[in-house]
Amino acid sequence: MKKLTVAIDGPAGAGKSSAARLAAGKVQYLYIDTGAMYRAITWAILQHHVNVQDEAAVGALIQHLSVRLEPLSDTCRVYVNDTEVTEEIRTQAISSHVSSVAALAVVRQKLVQLQRDMAKQGGVILDGRDIGTVVLPDADIKIFLTASVHSRAKRRYLELQAKGNTETLEEIENSIAQRDYQDSHRAVSPLKQAADAMLLDNSELNLEETADVITKLIRQKAQ
Ligand code: C5P
Repeated sequence: MKKLTVAIDGPAGAGKSSAARLAAGKVQYLYIDTGAMYRAITWAILQHHVNVQDEAAVGALIQHLSVRLEPLSDTCRVYVNDTEVTEEIRTQAISSHVSSVAALAVVRQKLVQLQRDMAKQGGVILDGRDIGTVVLPDADIKIFLTASVHSRAKRRYLELQAKGNTETLEEIENSIAQRDYQDSHRAVSPLKQAADAMLLDNSELNLEETADVITKLIRQKAQ
């Protein structure tokens, strides 16, 4: 089987990460969570009390940072230099700052380069916002995965509740809608469907069914 490059883009909470991870496991591809990389940089910025609006200061800080993903079978550990931040990058504080950080050209330049290097060998699924449009415009398979704001918020609500989080459905719905807006209206690499991407609305599909659509596409194309 050919080792393809697969780009999965879409708005927050469409289940990209879970579906991409599951599909990658089934076809034995490497899963690269690019959102985790933006979250890791956001963690470092907050940790160092750098003003997100000050692009020069952010540039100076990230020059000395290395962001590393360590894929395991069912998860992916995230490191900033030698500190593991896998759990810390999932908090609401990070979620509410990450879109501002991801809008900075200096941050995108660094991470896009890193993502291209990681994808070079093929046999990879990357999920994010700009994979099919900017990071890997020649990806073998491009999927734009989306669902209604309500169903995305509901999924995240249940996920967070299981972890003991107390945010309300309404708060999560607002946060998702706000991130959608910011991500699709920023000047640099806004979230948008690549012209040659397949649109997959999974409002009515569960995780297994979504991953099955992806693995089917990979198996067909890899023959
Ligand atoms: O995928 P996740 O929701 O964890 O991504 C967090 C944020 O990182 C997104 O809301 C977006 O602002 C940013 N991001 C991005 N480009 C990517 C991946 C994520 O701008 N390729």
